[in-house]
Amino acid sequence: MPALTRRRSDNSHQETWHIYFEDVRIGHIGMHSGVPLHQDQWGWGLGFYPGMEKGPRGGFGGTAATFEDARAAFEARWKLVEPTITEADYEAWRRDRDLTAWKYRMWDEHCMMPTQTQSGRSRCFCGTEIGLGSSLEEHVITAHRGIGA
Ligand SMILES: [Zn+2]
Repeated sequence: MPALTRRRSDNSHQETWHIYFEDVRIGHIGMHSGVPLHQDQWGWGLGFYPGMEKGPRGGFGGTAATFEDARAAFEARWKLVEPTITEADYEAWRRDRDLTAWKYRMWDEHCMMPTQTQSGRSRCFCGTEIGLGSSLEEHVITAHRGIGA
């Protein structure tokens, strides 16, 4: 089983780590702000969407006194959850990530979405003609896979 990795979030005011399994962001561990000193200062959450919303898995989370404790709780829960997650679940998250990044890029490039034209067709920033629904998603999956990675 590949190890989990973590990346610090951009928020400089609060220490938050995004937790990744391979390239999928499966959760976070972060310091709570404004919590009384006698209470747990750290929190963690496990879950990625779309992907983990099906079945009884839902999302998991808790608080801990230290980062190490939060990490241990996170990893213990992940060990239980990980065997129930399929490649299709990860793939759902990756596709959503890429589709979101693709939409931002379309916006940045001043390209029209098919929903914004009367014909229901428009052009991707790469020049390919795209339509609504599955043809749009197929294009993003095949031509721009990993755009949001
Ligand atoms: Zn394209």
